[in-house]
Order: sequence, then structure tokens, then C-alpha cells
Amino acid sequence: MLIVGIMVVVFALAFAVGYFVRRRAQGSRCPHCGKAFAMREVSRNSVSSYETTTHVGLITRDLKGYVTGNDTRIVPARAHIYNCVDACRFCGFQKEEQRTQVHRQ
Ligand SMILES: [Zn+2]
Repeated sequence: MLIVGIMVVVFALAFAVGYFVRRRAQGSRCPHCGKAFAMREVSRNSVSSYETTTHVGLITRDLKGYVTGNDTRIVPARAHIYNCVDACRFCGFQKEEQRTQVHRQ
């Protein structure tokens, strides 16, 4: 029974790793030459920023590791909008994209 449990955990881990690697490969695939892991960010210009809020979680555990408290708070944050340029490291194809990043204040 223990062996089965360990195998289930190993399979779940392998599946999760494969899923994230594949998603990353798709996300950085060059639309021009089609190669995976190709797109890299080469420049980033801040366009604007605005006030917003974000969630910060605090989980309390007891000595055995069980979660005894869950305290999520909304804190002020600032969202930055960037104009980013990604370039393919194989063929040099460039793609512009707007990205938003939220930072806690
Ligand atoms: Zn390319």
C-alpha cells in the first residue's frame, strides 16, 4: 500500500513538472521559426502605473504542521504597466507585448 502511495506521488510530480515545462515551452515558442524556449525579453519600458490592492496570506501551523489559522489580508499595491519586447534567440524575430506587474508597497 505504501509503495502504491509513493508511486502515485511520483507520477503526480512527473506530470506536474511535464505540464509546467510544456507550458513554458509553448509560452516562449517563436511564432516565426517555431522553436521552443526561444523568446527572451530584451527590453522593457515603463508606461504607467496605478494604485491597486493585492492579497497577502498568512498561514499559521501548529508544531505537527497542521494548518490552524488562515489569515488573508488585502494590502495596498502598485501595478506597473510595461511595454516589453521579446526577441527570438535563433532567428531574431521580435514581438512587442504589454505586461502588468503588481508590487506590494
Ligand atoms: Zn525564431
